[in-house]
Amino acid sequence: GAVTRTPFIAGNWKMNLDHLQAVALVQKLHWTLRDAKHESGSVEVALFPPFTDLRPVQTLIDADKIPFALGAQDISTHDSGAYTGEVSGQFLAKLDVSYVIIGHSERREYHHEGDDIVAAKTQAALRHGLVPVICVGETAADLEEYGASAVPVKQLGIALEGLSADADIVVAYEPVWAIGSGQAATPEQAQEVAAALRAVIADALGVDAAARTRILYGGSVKSSNIASFLREPDVDGALVGGASLVADEFAAIIRFQK
Ligand code: PGA
Repeated sequence: GAVTRTPFIAGNWKMNLDHLQAVALVQKLHWTLRDAKHESGSVEVALFPPFTDLRPVQTLIDADKIPFALGAQDISTHDSGAYTGEVSGQFLAKLDVSYVIIGHSERREYHHEGDDIVAAKTQAALRHGLVPVICVGETAADLEEYGASAVPVKQLGIALEGLSADADIVVAYEPVWAIGSGQAATPEQAQEVAAALRAVIADALGVDAAARTRILYGGSVKSSNIASFLREPDVDGALVGGASLVADEFAAIIRFQK
């Protein structure tokens, strides 16, 4: 039968909110959603706070049985040792972190993380039982030169090299020009690239993996456009930046049901 993919809404806080502000936002979000269907498992919500917020947020969602998964924004390629400033996947796993964003365009641009680093971080996440949220996307210049799918297709192909067919991953298509710009891609473009990325997964990991893997759209998602993206057959959720920092707005995105 047809595979059903549970919609996935991810809030990427980036470098925003100290741990006190983080706890306040999660409490407000939980209160706002108190009678929402996300409790029933019809949508999965994951929050990606800065590292310093992970422990307080984990303690809160554990104590109050808040149905949000926890994610980190980055991971070391190494497991432990003399790597000043890095955070190991084994530390994240100990904090009940389930997901980790890998290859976000801000890491690719400001930290010069290329496809080889993205692949190594993907493997580090899987090694520790974390689900990598692998981000791919074209810049405005790429879009003009190669169209929308060529660059993300190439980026994802490299990230998936050598993974096993049962690898549990999430893919996020984030056109760089759409991130934080207020200028989202059209749903048609998101669908076209998501379908191309699903074909990459089929090639690399097989058709079962392709049918099961959730592909998100990210870039200026808000409550007023989430429906148009989730309507597309290959778009299974959203990676939300700015709009995930405002409780009412993020709750409205979560409340939308595919
Ligand atoms: P945005 O960011 O929603 O603020 O455009 C998305 C992202 O960078 O993941």
